[in-house]
Amino acid sequence: MMLKTCWHSLLDFLFPPHCPVCHAYVENQGDWCSKCLREARQTHLILLPAPMHSVIKAAWALGIYRGGLRSLIHDLKYKKRRSVLPYVRTFLRAADFVLPEAYDFAVPVPLHKNRERRRGFNQVEVIFGDWLQEKGVPLRRALLRVRETRPLYDMTPQERKQNLNHAFVLAPGMEQEVAGRHILLLDDILTTGMTLMACAAVLRQAGAACVDVLVFASDHR
Ligand SMILES: [Zn+2]
Repeated sequence: MMLKTCWHSLLDFLFPPHCPVCHAYVENQGDWCSKCLREARQTHLILLPAPMHSVIKAAWALGIYRGGLRSLIHDLKYKKRRSVLPYVRTFLRAADFVLPEAYDFAVPVPLHKNRERRRGFNQVEVIFGDWLQEKGVPLRRALLRVRETRPLYDMTPQERKQNLNHAFVLAPGMEQEVAGRHILLLDDILTTGMTLMACAAVLRQAGAACVDVLVFASDHR
């Protein structure tokens, strides 16, 4: 215990805790400065177009996909820096999102197994894992991504649709688990919403009673 405290003091001395956005010094590792945290916290209901509402009941984002949240997600996904996770946890705690209902379980948008192997983790699970545990909501891998999809941003809407068709299926043995359940579908970001719609459609076709969506950050256009 003593040794651990000394070690932390040494680390704090060598790498003083700083805000992930403006780099101002803060008290503890993982803290944000109050100004940047206040600016990043923008929990909001996402207005989805009518076709999406046929499968997604409601969708929320905890912040906007730019600035601090954008760089945290980039560092985690593309640079595989798990060292940003304390900042993610601080943000989730500060966002103070109250779940609108008692979900039976949460489902992360899955990565294709090749991509997950390359990255070493599914970012959605490492972002929300501890937070869900604190809320007592189990995380279930109810979906599989069976096609490797190209990045959506460089595709036309028609290409996106074709690319996502049949990209997701129910994971083996999940039929009984999903039927009649209230499910919270999770992703790191929402841009067009088409990935989330494709996932929600599979869950609803499998008999899920309702699917709500929660994302870390939204860039909805
Ligand atoms: Zn700051």
